Amino acid sequence: MKKVFFFLSIVLTCSTSFIYAQQSEIVLVIDAGHGGNDPGHETLINGHSDEKTLNLKIANYFGSYVSKYLTNVRVIYTRTSDKTVSLDDRVEIANTANANYFISIHCNGNSRRSVRGTETHVHSLSIKKSVSLANKIEKQFSQRANRHSRGVKDKEDLTHSLQVLKYTQMTGVLVECGFITNTKEAKYLNSTYGQEIIASAIFRAFRGFIQEQHPTMNFVKPISETTASMDSSRGSFAIQIMSSKTAVDVKSSSFKRLKMDVTRKKLNTTSTYKYIYTVGNYSSISAAKLELSKIQKRGFRDAIIVRQ
Ligand SMILES: [Zn+2]
Repeated sequence: MKKVFFFLSIVLTCSTSFIYAQQSEIVLVIDAGHGGNDPGHETLINGHSDEKTLNLKIANYFGSYVSKYLTNVRVIYTRTSDKTVSLDDRVEIANTANANYFISIHCNGNSRRSVRGTETHVHSLSIKKSVSLANKIEKQFSQRANRHSRGVKDKEDLTHSLQVLKYTQMTGVLVECGFITNTKEAKYLNSTYGQEIIASAIFRAFRGFIQEQHPTMNFVKPISETTASMDSSRGSFAIQIMSSKTAVDVKSSSFKRLKMDVTRKKLNTTSTYKYIYTVGNYSSISAAKLELSKIQKRGFRDAIIVRQ
């Protein structure tokens, strides 16, 4: 019995010192705004999602890029599902994790439907690091994601403080990814394509920022470690729902339950199944995967992702 205990304590001691030796990571808290019984801004458009759902999707994409392409960054989410998390709890999660960075993801709304564009908020324009991160995000939005940037704002602009920025003790920003009350922007924010572009803009800004802040640390994973590189996973993808020997009308009632436009293609093949039917147009495999399960649930169990 004693021997076992002795052995265990050696293992524990070794593993503890191992953890200390490895402490060269930074901690990022990603906060998807609202959730559960707080929808945030509610959509005005049939079939579109409320703010809480869009925030979660963008936050999840952003976090997945960090995990996939960066090393030495630990990501903590304040929520990963549609659940209610109080503002106090979000602050508490970030402060107790001793996080280095806090990024809150939101979408905006306005009673004037013409209002559009992205904004990144900081608690005060005098907090240099937060302002630097916010500037980088807005720059990526306007220069790389082709969004209309409304700039970096602080509590003076808003005429009130944002609780999650006021009480979190680390460098932090709150990103407003666009207005769901503007028809064109709502469409973009509701598309997988738009969500991915917004998330990758935030990702590139964050990557550039931490490289500047921690010049002696290595954050970028070697390409061999990123299982599918951007190039092989990106392109143009669709979901093939079926194939047939003779041409079937794409307006046929059997496609109605998909509620999506179906495209028919004739293949140059010796196979008897000469026609394939696809839906959607996705910029990455991950985006197509999100739709695939929905399509399978609508009765097209053999649906697959194809490159176009
Ligand atoms: Zn919000």
